[in-house]
Amino acid sequence: MSWGLMAGRAMAGAADHRLDIYWNDVEGGGSTLIVTPAGQSILIDSGNPGTRDAGRIHHTAAAVAGLTKIDYYITTHFHLDHYGGIAQLAALMPIGQVYDRGIPEHDPDHSPSDALWLQMIGPYRAFAADGRNRVTPGLALPLRQAVNSPHCSLLCVASGGHFVDPPEGAPPNPLAGENSHLELSPTDNDLSSAWVLEFGAFRFWDGGDLTWNMEGALVAPVNRVGQVDVYQVDHHGLNVSNNPVLIHSLSPTVSVMNNGAEKGTAASTLAALGSSPGIQAMYQMHKNLRPGDPQDNTADAYIANFAHDPNHRDANYIKLSVDPAGTSYTILIPATGFSRTYKVRLAMGP
Ligand SMILES: [Zn+2]
Repeated sequence: MSWGLMAGRAMAGAADHRLDIYWNDVEGGGSTLIVTPAGQSILIDSGNPGTRDAGRIHHTAAAVAGLTKIDYYITTHFHLDHYGGIAQLAALMPIGQVYDRGIPEHDPDHSPSDALWLQMIGPYRAFAADGRNRVTPGLALPLRQAVNSPHCSLLCVASGGHFVDPPEGAPPNPLAGENSHLELSPTDNDLSSAWVLEFGAFRFWDGGDLTWNMEGALVAPVNRVGQVDVYQVDHHGLNVSNNPVLIHSLSPTVSVMNNGAEKGTAASTLAALGSSPGIQAMYQMHKNLRPGDPQDNTADAYIANFAHDPNHRDANYIKLSVDPAGTSYTILIPATGFSRTYKVRLAMGP
């Protein structure tokens, strides 16, 4: 490796040996920024089109995390609240390798006409025209490792309706009996990619907008994922996702929901999280302010945004930081100063 290349890489982010995860507020879309112990950055989804979400992501990445580029960008699926912001973000900072499952030829939600789909996907198609990496289950990103640091990896466990193989000789999941089937119209959410981030024993789940029956098939009859420390709540907390058998099988210590002020946060999701045996805390990006169900919220201390007026949002982010040994992690809501530290439990890997 040349000294020039090393200097260039060093500028991408400081190798502080911590694993950091930032949840950007993109008003009920997806946009999770990961900074590895070696200082590389991974953005999973990019919020909505327009300057608002791209500006917020850029602020977190550049001003807060000190990044000069995004090394890896992943689109979990082709809905606007997940891929919509990347073309705008690319105008603000360089984006390195792009990962998706391949842009669908036709509207993946099967609308009668493709006209709207072609219009919406246009900027993404132009952004990704230089070549993309195809996401398939079992794909691991080629992450650089920090010296004298626990191993860090990001593995795709589901994509396009396909899953990673179960571990050889894996026993039946004792919780498989909790699985149930929902009659749902097919959408691109079903085909969402899902990812497991590991740093030492720490494990984090980002399942994009994976839906109920896919979630069930991923862990029943055999649990292909294992357990995690932190569960990013699927699909903003909506009730067509967050099958209890998935949540209970992953058995997270902490959940973080990228909901909006009036999107997600279903009562069924809060119940599935609250009944999960190891759960210690449930975070929300927004307080759920939907008229009629004010009770469907976590405790205020675990919420980052409270404003209702869409023109006067605070856009507060949530930050998680795993210590260099990979043994504990702290979740901070900088806007309120609320901070709590959790032990990494020795999760059973797949
Ligand atoms: Zn979504």
